[in-house]
Amino acid sequence: MAQKFLENGYEIVDHTKKADIYIINTCTVTNMSDRKSRQSLRKVKSLNPTAVVIAVGCYVQVAKKEIEQIPEIDLKLGNNEKVDIVQYVEKYIKENKNQNQIQDVMQTKEFSEFGDIIYTEKTRAVIKIQDGCDRFCSYCIIPYARGRVRSREPEHIISEIEKIAQKGIKEVVLTGIHIASYGKD
Ligand code: SF4
Repeated sequence: MAQKFLENGYEIVDHTKKADIYIINTCTVTNMSDRKSRQSLRKVKSLNPTAVVIAVGCYVQVAKKEIEQIPEIDLKLGNNEKVDIVQYVEKYIKENKNQNQIQDVMQTKEFSEFGDIIYTEKTRAVIKIQDGCDRFCSYCIIPYARGRVRSREPEHIISEIEKIAQKGIKEVVLTGIHIASYGKD
């Protein structure tokens, strides 16, 4: 998401600094992460009361009612909407109207291609190769936040790694929600 903003001419600043737009990529894996997501959303608005505060990600996806109780949020985006985040933010700014954009992730059948990473803060790159989980363990909310297993095309993964290697990054971490299910779909 940071890369998409950079590509569109935005500047990235530290989240503890004053900014025009704050994006909180929420987590819902435990009650503690729900609480931290809510705290972060409230805190950034106090750094700049006129900033646009965007809640995105897993907690938004599964806790729509709780998220509605946080007046500091201007725009709510689910997991499927991350790929078009810049367009959603610019639409919000143009229309200046509180919005919810949260598709039903359980219906998503295809891996969402974010494009290749060109922006990375570290000497290693984290590359997402898979999303979703079909296991539905009784204690876990992840399948409801991330949807069913979707695997990224192997050619896209290899192509991205080759481009990253050309930039001198020597370590690549392959990541996903349940990577043992890679290719199942
Ligand atoms: S296998 Fe899937 S449902 Fe089970 S704990 Fe891991 S992410 Fe959650």
